Amino acid sequence: MPMAAPTDVLVPAAKLESFIAAIFEGAGCDRAEAWRISTHLLGANLAGHDSHGVARVPRYVEWLQAGYVRKGQNAEVVTDGGCFALLEGHFGFGQTVAPQAVELGIERARQHGVSVIALRNAGHIGRVGDYAETAIRAGLISVHFVNVAGSTLVAPFGGTERRFSTAPFSVGVPLPDRPLVLDFATSLVAEGKVLVASNGGKKLPEGALIEPDGRLSSDPHTLYGDYPPVGPRNPANGKGAIRAFGDHKGSGLAFMCEMLAGALTGGGTAGPVKGRGRISNGMLSFYLSPKHFGTEAEFHEAGRVYLDWVLACRPADPAQPVLAPGDKEAATRAERLAKGVPLQPDTWESILQTARSLGVPEAG
Ligand code: NAD
Repeated sequence: MPMAAPTDVLVPAAKLESFIAAIFEGAGCDRAEAWRISTHLLGANLAGHDSHGVARVPRYVEWLQAGYVRKGQNAEVVTDGGCFALLEGHFGFGQTVAPQAVELGIERARQHGVSVIALRNAGHIGRVGDYAETAIRAGLISVHFVNVAGSTLVAPFGGTERRFSTAPFSVGVPLPDRPLVLDFATSLVAEGKVLVASNGGKKLPEGALIEPDGRLSSDPHTLYGDYPPVGPRNPANGKGAIRAFGDHKGSGLAFMCEMLAGALTGGGTAGPVKGRGRISNGMLSFYLSPKHFGTEAEFHEAGRVYLDWVLACRPADPAQPVLAPGDKEAATRAERLAKGVPLQPDTWESILQTARSLGVPEAG
């Protein structure tokens, strides 16, 4: 579980949530949207995925001010085939248009037993597992292929140049009282982790990056080029790439995320990029209702027996029991709800700066 460093600022979850909502209201969002964004970002921190949490606030506000992301948008149905639909996100906040896509997917899967929903041109949708969790609460299995149109950071297996986005993938499975949530980027590390390492934080795993000449690297300069000890990092300045996880298999999954979430949706793939100026998420989601399949009872029973058997596997390290997808996030959530959300001092300071720039007072 990600632990708090001694220098971290510990902020109670409820205080952080209302403060971040106030920032987005201060930036011009209506109250409901401001809270949606805040609740989602806080949720990522609570799950332990700080790279997709409130650290994103300054950048989200900059994107809003630059017109890269738009407030007050709704996902619009472009194609409606009953059990499938294509939605246009109009570059609205991902935390608004992605939940709308999920809501439609749930509604249609309840009607038809299955549904397929394509969403394109969404602002950054954040932690994809959040959407799998919504489907789980509705009793549905879901599978989500996501890409980041206009963002090339990741080299394909066997390659040395950037071709993929960090293209996340998520699957949610609703066992009673025991949600299973698989949710990860298809890059070996998230860009946020390279950023942390460049600021002197946790080092990258060996070979997380690759140089143009094919040498493996764990040096953030590979991604960012030259940079000062403190200040912004720009992946456009680096010549290397992050590697896809899992050799040819993870690389293949990233490729398919680009195909399904980028090409099929019409939102665009990671590249080639020419003057696009902004990034957006595409997401192709499948929803399945075990009830409609007629095997819900068997699914719950066999799923539970199987889960228990997997978890009973003798661990390689007795101090590290085998976990199911989503377990780590659930444990981190419980701890952070109880103790507060640890934030790196730089992260907290940049959020405070954004708040000050908008005239939003820090909640006491
Ligand atoms: P990660 O490498 O931490 O992997 C997380 C997954 O692995 C989870 O399903 C977790 O339960 C499981 N897991 C972790 N430790 C485990 C263990 N010991 N045993 C069994 N399972 C374990 O995740 P990541 O790749 O760093 O991704 C972080 C987040 O970034 C995700 O929420 C993803 O959706 C998000 N993301 C979003 C975008 C976007 O454009 N919106 C892009 C990339 C990533």
